[in-house]
Parts: sequence; structure tokens; C-alpha cells
Amino acid sequence: MRVLLVEDDPQLGDGLAAGMRQSGFAVDWLKDGASADAALKSESFDLVVLDLGLPRLSGMELLRRLRARKEMLPVLILTARDAVADKIAGLDAGADDYLVKPIDLDELAARLRALTRRSGGRAVPKLIHGALELDPASHQVLLAGQPVDMGTREFAILHALLANAGHVMTRTQLESSIYGWSEEPDSNAVEVHIHHLRRKLGADFIKTLRGVGYLVEKAK
Ligand code: CA
Repeated sequence: MRVLLVEDDPQLGDGLAAGMRQSGFAVDWLKDGASADAALKSESFDLVVLDLGLPRLSGMELLRRLRARKEMLPVLILTARDAVADKIAGLDAGADDYLVKPIDLDELAARLRALTRRSGGRAVPKLIHGALELDPASHQVLLAGQPVDMGTREFAILHALLANAGHVMTRTQLESSIYGWSEEPDSNAVEVHIHHLRRKLGADFIKTLRGVGYLVEKAK
């Protein structure tokens, strides 16, 4: 899951980005509203974590523009303590959730998982595909009830493929689910992770469509 973090406070932003990465999110961090507005028009994200007090363009105005473009991606706003008016204005402007500073990183990660679930239209938190079960909250994968050991990036790729079962994912889409802008992807990283996933889950679980991308078929 790729998160756009928009926060101008360097220390807070640093902590939030590190915390979300630790929870398995790919995080891109921008420090003002105008560059975030531009990024949202040109790139695709799964979630936005948005501070309201930002230079160049306020978080509230950014949110209004996003919703005016009929962009439905989930937005969680960060508000100052006791700023009840901000919370209400933010929710009215199209935010899906809010957290009051100081931010608890575990709570933030849990709220982001809940938002992703809702936006994916899934009522249950686990992704189940035949004998395979992936739990985004505990970062656990079970195959026929047995835990499968998996690195953070393998997990992120599998998560993206299962969430889009029946649809082909290009290598670029998979890369963007595991890397933020600040990280330089290895040229064959996706292939390597897919290779490991096949070894663990069976050779046929992930199909390669040559020149197009990768696919997990819809569960029967
Ligand atoms: Ca701020």
C-alpha cells in the first residue's frame, strides 16, 4: 500500500514516515500542500495522511481540490489537540478519518488498515484465496493453516496481487506498492520477490503474462 504523507514538521514527518514504513506501507513524504496537490494529480496512491496546517496550500484546500476532482482515495487528517472545528471542517471537506496530535504510531497504522479495507469494499480484514490467508494486521500468511515466512516486500507484493486478484499488475505498479520515491528499486527486485513467493506458495500461484505483468487469478 502506497501512502502519501503531507506534513511540514520535519521531526513529526520523520517519525510518521518511519513508523508507517515499519508497518509495511510504502511512504512518500511531501512537506507542502502545493507539491502534494501536484503529486496527487500525476501519481497513484492508496492513502493520504494529511496535516492541515501546511505551507503553500492548506491541507483543507488540498482536500477540497481532491474531492472536487472526484478522487475517492481515503484521506486521514492530522489535527492539533482541541481543534474540534478543524475535525468537523475536515470531515465535511471529505476526510475519511482523523487523528489528534500527538500521534500514536500503532493507532495510525491500524486506522490506515481499516481505511484500506473499507475502500476495497471488504468487510473482513483478512484476504483469503483458496488455502491461502493473508492478514494485513498481523503481517501473517497462512498456507493450509501453516505460517509461511515472508519478508516485508514479498508480503507487500503478495498483498497487492491478492487485493487485485483477477487483474494483471504491471511491474511498475508492484514496484510502487513496495518502494517510496526516496528508495531506488533494484532493477530485478520484483522478479526476485515473485521467484521467492512462487517457491513458498507453489509455482502456479502467480502467473506471468509476458511483457504485461503478473496475475493471481480470482479465487474459485
Ligand atoms: Ca503543520
